[in-house]
Amino acid sequence: MRSARTRSPLRLRWTASAVAATAALGLLLGSGVLAVECPVRAAFGVDCPGCGGSRVIADLARGDLVAAVDHNAFAVLVLVPLALVLLVAGARLELGKARRMWPPGRWGKVVAVALGASVIAWTVLRNLPFPPFEALRA
Ligand SMILES: [Zn+2]
Repeated sequence: MRSARTRSPLRLRWTASAVAATAALGLLLGSGVLAVECPVRAAFGVDCPGCGGSRVIADLARGDLVAAVDHNAFAVLVLVPLALVLLVAGARLELGKARRMWPPGRWGKVVAVALGASVIAWTVLRNLPFPPFEALRA
């Protein structure tokens, strides 16, 4: 038996829209056509977890992994893989092959807490004003 979701002629419309919007935004930001100053940096003078993210997208589009890691290692090692996993999970959800995007129960909570803790740790470490942490700034 097929659900209404799998019979829809617009299958993967949210996933495809998310990919298109992210790619367009990444190209605009990464190419410098659209220059947006980070509001956290502008307001507080510190790097947020995502600072350097648009340059990471541009670096990855050029195939320059070293420059991408230099701009924001956390984005390369955690955020980009997380986005890809969520993209696949979203596509599976839209296709009716999964019931949720996030792991259920205790495992889902552990992953969420670990991600939150890693974002906080990355933000603190990259803003420490002494070596070797100064190198983590965007
Ligand atoms: Zn920022």
